[in-house]
Amino acid sequence: MKLGFIGLGNMGNPMAGNLLQAGHSLHIYDLRRDAGANLEAAGAVWKPSPQEVARGVEAVFLSLPMPADVEQVVLADNGVLAGMASGGTIIDMSTNSPTTVRRLAEQARVKGVEFLDAPVSGGVRGARNATLAIMVGGDKTVYDRYEPILKVMGSHVFYVGAIGAGNVVKLVNNMLAFINMMGAAEAIILGTKAGVDPNVLWQAIRASSGGSFTWESGTRAILRDRLAPTFTVELAKKDIGLATRLAQELEVPLTMGRVAEDLLNHYYASGYAREDVLATVKALEQQAGVTVRGTWKESH
Ligand code: NAD
Repeated sequence: MKLGFIGLGNMGNPMAGNLLQAGHSLHIYDLRRDAGANLEAAGAVWKPSPQEVARGVEAVFLSLPMPADVEQVVLADNGVLAGMASGGTIIDMSTNSPTTVRRLAEQARVKGVEFLDAPVSGGVRGARNATLAIMVGGDKTVYDRYEPILKVMGSHVFYVGAIGAGNVVKLVNNMLAFINMMGAAEAIILGTKAGVDPNVLWQAIRASSGGSFTWESGTRAILRDRLAPTFTVELAKKDIGLATRLAQELEVPLTMGRVAEDLLNHYYASGYAREDVLATVKALEQQAGVTVRGTWKESH
């Protein structure tokens, strides 16, 4: 298929790469001209604006940081809607506000353009290996048309309901993941300071009731000191803010979610904005006077 991809960062770049590798032809664009260099080398065609990306393609995929970036890319004078023919589809794979995607879908519909929200989970590794979870909201017949293409980027593709539902699932997932993550960091530090080898803690808890996906992969990354920024505090702050705002709109009381939000806001304001969320363990280590990073034993 003739496709477009806008937003070629940590996630978008490998996802677009997988579309190319599957034989689709790709128009690409990013604010940073160099972000698509590897994709151009693999056959993608760089276009000077979102409008030009949308010209002549069946669908345009977006992987952008903030809801305001998606609005800009879709609605601007040189945006996707200005270039896309009636019958085309916008598939927003950013983590976005359900309210924003519903509004954009309405504006697209006026021009005869379809809109799916299809946020992803699984991080940069999942994007590279095409093992992402993708949760999709929108018209089911449009979903059915693009499901085979989404499966090129993810191994777990879920149709979860009407437009906006994809981001509802994504935001509640991330709220839970952050709550788990903050708890996992406190647990490994407390147990280590109390005298237990962090590797032993990790192994015992992964087989016990406190274990979780986050404990398994996040705590392991901490012990291995593999904390290069792939999912930044800045993006996590956005996600938790969108989740707590959704709860506010629906009058659902949150306690754990708000604690996670307070913590992420605190880390954002204290120098961690561009660091990986897992790297915030450094602040806890400092406060507790104990180091767990770099203690991984390869015998596991
Ligand atoms: P990123 O910052 O690495 O990449 C975003 C890209 O969008 C950048 O290359 C940037 O230059 C480009 N961009 C920003 N504004 C633009 C505009 N107006 N026009 C064109 N390009 C623009 O972010 P990322 O980590 O790749 O995340 C992308 C989306 O995926 C976000 O919504 C994020 O919340 C979500 N997400 C990220 C992860 C992760 O692990 N990084 C996991 C799941 C979901």
